Amino acid sequence: MKKVQLSETIVRILETYGIEVLTPQFFAIEGRWHWFTGHGHKDAFRLWPTAAQILSDRGSLAVNFKLTKVIPPSEFKAAQLLEKIKRNSKLGEAILHIKEYPKKDASYASKSLPLTDEIVVSLKRQGIKLYEHQANAIECALKGRNVVIATPTASGKTVCFNVPVLDAIIRDTSSCALYVYPTKALAQDQIRKIASFRDDNKGDDVTDKQYSSGYYFTMKLGGKQIAFGKYEGPTPQDIRKVIRERCNIVLTNPDELHFGILRFNQLWTRFLKNLKYVVLDEIHIYKGIFGSHMALIIRRLRKVCEALGARPVFILCSATIGNPIEHAKNLTGCDDFVLIDKDSSPKKKRLLVLWNPPLKEDGKRVEALTNLVDLLTEELITSNQIVKTIAFGRSRLSVKLAYKLLEDRYRQKGIRNFASFVREYTATLPPERREEIFSALAGGKIHGIIGTNALELGVDIPDMSCYLSIGYPGSITSVHQQFGRVGRVGEGLGIVILHDDPLEQYFARFPKEFFDKKPEDITINPKNPVLLRMHLACYIHEMSAYGGISEDDIKTIFGEEAIECLRKLEREQKILRYEDKSRVYWKFNYSSNDFSQEYLPIRNPISNVNFTINCDGEKIGIIDGASVLRDLHPGAIWIDNDRQYEVVNVDFMNKVVNVREVDFEYYTVAAPKDKVRILQKKQQKMLRRTSVYFGLISVRREVKEYWKIVPGGEAEREEIKWSTPIPEDLCTFNTEALWFVLPNQYKTIMNQELESALHAIEHALLIIIPKSINCDPNDIKGAYTPVCPESGGNPTIFLFDNYPGGIGLAKSCFQRIHNILRDCIRLIESCKCRENEGCPSCIQTSRCEKRNKNLNKKLALKILKEVTPRRLCF
Ligand SMILES: [Zn+2]
Ligand SMILES: [Zn+2]
Repeated sequence: MKKVQLSETIVRILETYGIEVLTPQFFAIEGRWHWFTGHGHKDAFRLWPTAAQILSDRGSLAVNFKLTKVIPPSEFKAAQLLEKIKRNSKLGEAILHIKEYPKKDASYASKSLPLTDEIVVSLKRQGIKLYEHQANAIECALKGRNVVIATPTASGKTVCFNVPVLDAIIRDTSSCALYVYPTKALAQDQIRKIASFRDDNKGDDVTDKQYSSGYYFTMKLGGKQIAFGKYEGPTPQDIRKVIRERCNIVLTNPDELHFGILRFNQLWTRFLKNLKYVVLDEIHIYKGIFGSHMALIIRRLRKVCEALGARPVFILCSATIGNPIEHAKNLTGCDDFVLIDKDSSPKKKRLLVLWNPPLKEDGKRVEALTNLVDLLTEELITSNQIVKTIAFGRSRLSVKLAYKLLEDRYRQKGIRNFASFVREYTATLPPERREEIFSALAGGKIHGIIGTNALELGVDIPDMSCYLSIGYPGSITSVHQQFGRVGRVGEGLGIVILHDDPLEQYFARFPKEFFDKKPEDITINPKNPVLLRMHLACYIHEMSAYGGISEDDIKTIFGEEAIECLRKLEREQKILRYEDKSRVYWKFNYSSNDFSQEYLPIRNPISNVNFTINCDGEKIGIIDGASVLRDLHPGAIWIDNDRQYEVVNVDFMNKVVNVREVDFEYYTVAAPKDKVRILQKKQQKMLRRTSVYFGLISVRREVKEYWKIVPGGEAEREEIKWSTPIPEDLCTFNTEALWFVLPNQYKTIMNQELESALHAIEHALLIIIPKSINCDPNDIKGAYTPVCPESGGNPTIFLFDNYPGGIGLAKSCFQRIHNILRDCIRLIESCKCRENEGCPSCIQTSRCEKRNKNLNKKLALKILKEVTPRRLCF
């Protein structure tokens, strides 16, 4: 190894990049020159991959010294970069729609809050000056009012609950608070935020480290000892006990609240009796089945607290959603929520771009994923400059493919090491890896990150300059959560790269609808009878120690619907009826039942038939029968918690699904044939010459085939090899639905033609629904029949919740059916394709079980216009 002094010129170059050079030296490895500074390898390590091509001529450094400039977020100019991108001949063709979000100054609280001196001092020490919305939220909480805070990412939501919680503990050190997070990753972040209130916080890394891992923590605030801890799956037994006995603040997740805390509430009496606040963070995650479970868990929590004489105040935090108050009420069963939704935190100027990849010669659009890699390698992370970028994909598969393509592209360009500036991030990463990625990001060792929506939640990520999304992330709530990652320290640029998908292309045609779009509503269904039955059994167990519960109690907490479940539990002898002079009440029947059996997992729907999922002989989950048919047939690719599995076989006899972990680049879509029967009409709305109904239906599902789909490639039809026939009780379920009965006149249309039109209308409806309601594509399904016996033999189209008992989607669609119909007409009418079968920009979808065969867009449009009230057509 030969050492060489750095020349004056090089030192000067380095200095212009703000790199301090003390006694710099170069060394060579395999003929390539690298350098390090005299006072350590830290900076050298950070820089050498970017300090490219240093040439040497017999020991004297002369040279073509080029250093890639990393643009600090504070210096980033969004409009400048966008102009440059537009001039790039490869990229500029994409159609752009731009919205500017102007710079916004902070508005600080003017009122003084009745806080303890200790908290006031601590806030000052941390340099926190409360924004107006924070002060308003804190004021409500201090007054004992339930609050829901629905503001964007990074608007300082955690202060809104940490302040009242810690204030209550200072006033009375026996006070307790429960923080519930939908995912584990979030709790550790929160520990650090609580700890920053401590008396000895000097803002240094050294003491901060104490709070970066572990489960049980203490700190002094105003001289008073405060204990807090994480109570979740991996928390060791001995620490669990300490947390139960000593903590003021317990951080947990819904699963642990259900399995660990409520089930064994007798061990938690100290904590629950003193519970002053319940904080639910990221409540927009609580939707569908998971959200419906959560709503019932919270109701149980409230009742146990009530029995112990506690009435905690709820502080709920959410991304911006369409119905924050309604969702808060549904989730907690409490009525009196104050909404805080005015964000008064400062923002820099930001530009949001709707980006439609250009059409190729074959008439197909360039893949969003390819375009993302183009943007990254051509303009964002190049050998000339590096713009700090965060990119999102909707699935782990798209993230993985994007990263692979990125690596290939840098290799082709001959820029070594560049892919190492970008990392992948998915929810399956172990905590150490996550920590490592974030500290590398903060330390400037990496400059880009591509991840799934796991990055959307409240994890602390340093400010980025550019946000990219592979496709529309599925909801405007997500767009704003993701876009919120840029524009705090400096300006921000966001680019949503659209797929060739009907809803996304609808936005390309009507960009104003995208930019002006109100966030979607979140729906849950705490009245789902299947869920209700389980939670009622848990509830009766939990209340048995407090003298049991009466019918009235059940009605007030779970609604009238629960009484039927009560009768069912009584018939099954799960519960016992007692009677004394003043009242009739129920208790759990411990003599013939194990209460633990009632506690089923809450991430999936439940049914009378639950299957165990086994991977290499190890149990990895439990799933309901309906989901097995839909998502876990033999050959299906199943994704859970970001891991990918292939179903090997299904054993109906022993109720076991055997899977193996795989790493495939295709996904599967089952092609079930559903037969629908109307059970009960509950509501009716008039359309033109026809009606739409909401009610209960029964679905009989036959699953014989599925599709294997490679993104961007062809789909292959495969036969499902069930080892034994599907038991009858498994392929039938009842759920909520809405249905259109078409007028008599359509009965005369040729059957084939009519079916194709009904098929096209079904597609349009399914495409448009996620525009107003936050749902996953699997959550809602359609069906149609040209002759429906229960509708007087008329043609009927159904939309139904794809889960037994329903999750509130069909109901929510029924309420806004006029807007949905209007958008369906717009979707079809605005597409320029001439063919009757439509195209991927209007009614063809990748999820179609018939692979978009037999669609009749013209007749569909005619029918839609004839049944939709005239004022909505244009
Ligand atoms: Zn079209
Ligand atoms: Zn279809």
